[in-house]
Amino acid sequence: MPELPEVETVKNTLIPLVTNKTITKVDIFYDRLIQSNIDDFRKNIINKKILGLQRYGKYLFFDLSDNYILITHLRMEGKFAYHETNINIRISSTTLAFYFSDGTTLCFNDTRKFGLMFLTTKSEIHSLAMMQKLGIEANKIKESDYEMLFKKLSKNKPIKNLITDQSILCGIGNIYADETLYLSKIHPLTKGKDLKEEDFIKIFKNAKKVLDKAITLGGSSVHSFSANGIDGKFQEELLCYGKEGKPCPNCNTKFHKIFLNGRGTTFCPNCQIYKPLEKAIGITGKIGSGKSTLLNHFKDLNYLTISSDVLIKEIYHDPVINKKISKIVGFIFDIDKKEDRNKIKLKMINDPKIKEKIEDILYPVLEQRLIKIIEDNENVVIEVPLLFKAHYEYMFKKIFVLDIDESKQIEHLKLRGDNVTTSLKINNDYSALSLDKVYVIKNNSSKEELFKKVDEILNK
Ligand SMILES: [Zn+2]
Repeated sequence: MPELPEVETVKNTLIPLVTNKTITKVDIFYDRLIQSNIDDFRKNIINKKILGLQRYGKYLFFDLSDNYILITHLRMEGKFAYHETNINIRISSTTLAFYFSDGTTLCFNDTRKFGLMFLTTKSEIHSLAMMQKLGIEANKIKESDYEMLFKKLSKNKPIKNLITDQSILCGIGNIYADETLYLSKIHPLTKGKDLKEEDFIKIFKNAKKVLDKAITLGGSSVHSFSANGIDGKFQEELLCYGKEGKPCPNCNTKFHKIFLNGRGTTFCPNCQIYKPLEKAIGITGKIGSGKSTLLNHFKDLNYLTISSDVLIKEIYHDPVINKKISKIVGFIFDIDKKEDRNKIKLKMINDPKIKEKIEDILYPVLEQRLIKIIEDNENVVIEVPLLFKAHYEYMFKKIFVLDIDESKQIEHLKLRGDNVTTSLKINNDYSALSLDKVYVIKNNSSKEELFKKVDEILNK
């Protein structure tokens, strides 16, 4: 989706091509593109000369003669295409064509058909609802705007949602929001009300840095003005957006992706800490290493204890998820039946692709539920076998990793009647063991010994 820098590039590319040209004819191939009265549009656009182009946020304005203004928005896939001729210019996605007096044409092509055009006059533009809803341009914030913006951003909502709200700040979309928050070292889930004024100023400065750089690079690399998403040069400069699973250039931790309002959001779990969330205690470790025993110990100490395996089982019960996973494993299952559970487990162990597909469905849902529990409660302890693999490190202030010798592990597995060969094949990823908050504990002797070690760390 084109964001502010791409629209700026579109504007700069169009200016030398269409300025001073007169529209002599218009073809509208998709009526809903025109948001103002379509008959007036058809009539009033004729014989108007394009005097210049301006951009505000993601809107592009054509200044026309006789005090008319054409407002356009590319939305998801809208693109302008300029032609030196007026024949054979229409492609299947063309929703409109302007024909100029010199025989050239400007088409609007839009595969998704979300783009819009609105014809108005200079005296009416400020009273339009869509114009009144526009906030301050994110790369043009002045110190005198700070007070007002602090107020609007200090809401009980994730900061990512607030800075992409075009009625507060205009021009920050998904890509530039992730980049801005990464540079500001602020977790996208952080509530606006939990941020300080200095954090907001950091966001303003980084948003300007990111947008200005993108404008410069976008302007130099776009040849046609398709402005389809981000263009070549800035894409190479992205630090965080779309880098899920890749190492953070600052600390080497793998970037993590969550979904916020249905939109992918990438961040570094180590550089972008969310303090109000980083308050739970995590337990992880190999199968049969004593995680549940330790969880019960926390229960005795009056902690709210959560087993992610229990939550996962609940998630499997969700009919939509059950249907999706049934498709992947190739049979309809009842998660309450041990037989079915084992069948799924085996499929996951034998085929890493199946495992990955199922995890891609379960992890984000589990993550959302865990975040909610941690936000709403104090003294939470969560057992998560896949803690590091799913990159949930950022939710915890302390993480206990239970380690165990294989002979002892087999002993535990037999005791609870698990299939030893199958169970030992389940591998965990411990790539984040170097974090300060991670405590690896050998659990080769008694429960009492384990509890003693854990209590000592808790009381530190
Ligand atoms: Zn980092």
